[in-house]
Amino acid sequence: MNKKKILLIHTGGTISMSEDTETGAVRPSENNPLNKQTKELYTLANIIVEEPFHLPSPHITPKEMYILKELIDNYVMKGNISGVVITHGTDTLEETAYFLDLTIKHTLPIVVTGAMRSSNEIGSDGLYNLISSIRVASCDEAHSLGVLVVLNDEIHTAENVTKTHTSNVSTFQSPQYGPIGIVTKRGVQFHHLPVIRQHHSIREPDKQVMLLKAHAGMDSSLLQAIAALNCDGVVIEALGQGNLPPAMIAGIKDLLKKGIPIVLVSRCFNGIAQDIYGYDGGGKQLKEMGLFFSNGLNGQKARIKLLIGLASNKNWDEIEAMFQV
Ligand code: ASP
Repeated sequence: MNKKKILLIHTGGTISMSEDTETGAVRPSENNPLNKQTKELYTLANIIVEEPFHLPSPHITPKEMYILKELIDNYVMKGNISGVVITHGTDTLEETAYFLDLTIKHTLPIVVTGAMRSSNEIGSDGLYNLISSIRVASCDEAHSLGVLVVLNDEIHTAENVTKTHTSNVSTFQSPQYGPIGIVTKRGVQFHHLPVIRQHHSIREPDKQVMLLKAHAGMDSSLLQAIAALNCDGVVIEALGQGNLPPAMIAGIKDLLKKGIPIVLVSRCFNGIAQDIYGYDGGGKQLKEMGLFFSNGLNGQKARIKLLIGLASNKNWDEIEAMFQV
């Protein structure tokens, strides 16, 4: 069999950590344990390893996401790789995966993976997920599908996948849509294909986008505090179909008056936010005021999309259009 050349990028996370047997603390060590296991991976593919940083994923910011995009673009430009696998902490994995999905243009398979149990814990899932990911990235059918997330024998799109459980190995799910493929002992099978892919050319993101979650009885105080800060955009996880408590309207007006775009998603993890209700604070009023309704993204991904829209100098109409697909 002709082995593919896979660029393997380690960024940190539990997959690259070990458990201290005395204290039980899981943390990074000086040497990434995955590097010791790289030998086993060479039976699957010719691997080039890069380790641009070594961070728990709560330490990852859009700056690191942009470094990854540039690193991958450089390798692709040289034309000598056939796929990419990125190991990443699971806490913010979906945000990095979606950032890369929206900003990398080429069609090579890019797979992001992680682990829920560190390298020396019983039932450690890191090496297993890494092997599955290399198999997916080496597979011809994985071309042109956008960035994929592979854990626990499932293949998800970066757009739909989200971390749903604090500790379970089946934490990554795509609510409402499901995975688009599975990894079996014999091969890789895709059973659904994504229909839409978006690409946005960006410079390094340097804008501030805030994410808020609406709740019963919420008022305008947080929105007014945000309006007084140096903020470029706001995403609100609204109630139900896309509604807010009426006491938030004054704060929304303040933000809009300052030219700050506001994107509305639902705090429900299934369905799409829409302008349905005509009461005070209802979706109809919010839409008329100029809020952008997002087509089914969760809050953290809508935030990444707005950051990218602002980093590609889009005007308001263009930003609204980004959220309609
Ligand atoms: N807290 C860890 C991180 O995101 C969790 C993990 O990697 O699974 O880095």
